[in-house]
Amino acid sequence: MYDKQNIFARILRQEVPCQKVWEDRAALIFCDINPAAPIHFIAIPKGEYESFSDFTINADADFNQQFWQAIGKIIKKTKCLANGYRLISNCGIRGGQTIPHFHVHILGGRQLGTLVGAD
Ligand code: 5GP
Repeated sequence: MYDKQNIFARILRQEVPCQKVWEDRAALIFCDINPAAPIHFIAIPKGEYESFSDFTINADADFNQQFWQAIGKIIKKTKCLANGYRLISNCGIRGGQTIPHFHVHILGGRQLGTLVGAD
């Protein structure tokens, strides 16, 4: 069951501040509090979805489209992502997800390393 007290749900309710870079009807995109690259945004949908599969299967087509378009638009707007970037969505325990609200990491601003760490 979706945990309404997770930190991204609290950011959506404006109970916790964030450094917002994009907001529309479907998406909120903000800076990661512990960036792994010079650019590290977190994109979250405005709804109670735990994971990629939960969102893509259960949110309606318009909502899905607007969420993914928001990510495309912030990438286009953030000019230093023009040289390349990476999208990551960690899902579930083995996927390394720590916040149980579906989110997409947008990383860039430097040469990124291997996709999956050695550990
Ligand atoms: P996950 O490991 O679930 O894929 O990613 C969670 C991300 O959320 C981490 O990169 C972490 O730094 C970020 N994060 C955790 N708490 C907060 C917070 O309160 N504010 C922001 N902006 N990011 C957070």
